[in-house]
Amino acid sequence: MSTPPLTASTMQSEAPAGGPDLGRRKVIHIDMDAFYASVEQRDDPALRGKPVAVGGARARGVVAAASYEARKFGVRSAMPSVTAMRKCPALVFVKPRFDVYREVSRQIRAIFARHTPIIEPLSLDEAYLDVTENLERVATATEIAEEIRKAIRAETGLTASAGVSYNKFLAKLASDHRKPDGLFVITPRMGPAFVETLDVGRFHGVGPATTAKMNRLGIMTGLDLKAQTLAFLTEHFGKAGPYYFWIARGVDERPVRADRPRKSLGAENTFLEDIFTHDAARAALAPILDKVWRAAAQAGIRGRTVTVKVKFADFRQITRAHSEAQPVAARADFERIALALLRPVFPAPRGVRLLGVTLSSLGDPPAKSEAQLSLGI
Ligand SMILES: [Mg+2]
Repeated sequence: MSTPPLTASTMQSEAPAGGPDLGRRKVIHIDMDAFYASVEQRDDPALRGKPVAVGGARARGVVAAASYEARKFGVRSAMPSVTAMRKCPALVFVKPRFDVYREVSRQIRAIFARHTPIIEPLSLDEAYLDVTENLERVATATEIAEEIRKAIRAETGLTASAGVSYNKFLAKLASDHRKPDGLFVITPRMGPAFVETLDVGRFHGVGPATTAKMNRLGIMTGLDLKAQTLAFLTEHFGKAGPYYFWIARGVDERPVRADRPRKSLGAENTFLEDIFTHDAARAALAPILDKVWRAAAQAGIRGRTVTVKVKFADFRQITRAHSEAQPVAARADFERIALALLRPVFPAPRGVRLLGVTLSSLGDPPAKSEAQLSLGI
């Protein structure tokens, strides 16, 4: 499953402020293997061993998750279903069952909670755990990770991969290193060298656009990134610069946040027919704005920053954001800002297939909440 990349705004308060913090913390990253697809194969024996895509087979559908059998053909999550079918004609499409995925997610979080209260979920199937002071007094973080993997297999019938290290950045790289059904440990002694060898595109928080930009600047690997000065990285990547500077050295002091405040509230919609004009966008946007505004009101929260996301018919995607000095106070202001952000997009010669709106920089976060609440529409 994909995770939303870290954005500059979420990292602002979390960028490493000081020097290395080697070896003092024990962080585990747990990531279920091909989660949605594995749940479907677990529950329907006829799907086992077959290339399976969870998602819609219809013309405009997108693959939400692909089984490992499907991945061998190059099928990936977020890929248009038509592309996936072309790559793998035998691909079996299965409708997602989010209720079941949420139930499994509750099960695995209960397993995590036996070992530590400091659990930061990234999505239904992924979480960071800080086990520096673990409840069971198991000797090492590696043993805890193995116990968790064993319990997940026994209690859910599914496999998970685990990464163990001394910070979040490295733990996540580690869990990816022996997927599926694997465990990998990055020790303080290994950390800096491990990072040097990897392509920057592998790093959490470096998405496709940032990877392309880094490559244009001659930064291909962790070693290349490490050769840049803090000033250079800040000049080119703004607030994310310090994060990149430190991760290139295997340093990441972001804490595992059990009660991570909600960072944004958003909704989006894919249209049956592409949109070409600003007027059509105004009409199409109304239910999306309603949904976000209602959810924000229900949660009693307000935001200063409005972000619009536009996906064109050719799947090119852009985002535009605007921040007010004060939280957006009225639905009319929310709409005005969103429409102003969309004005330069139209007329759109090739059409727009998806619009999304997000309200962020939220104040008064509730005590317990998910990092991001995404609303289907
Ligand atoms: Mg996963």
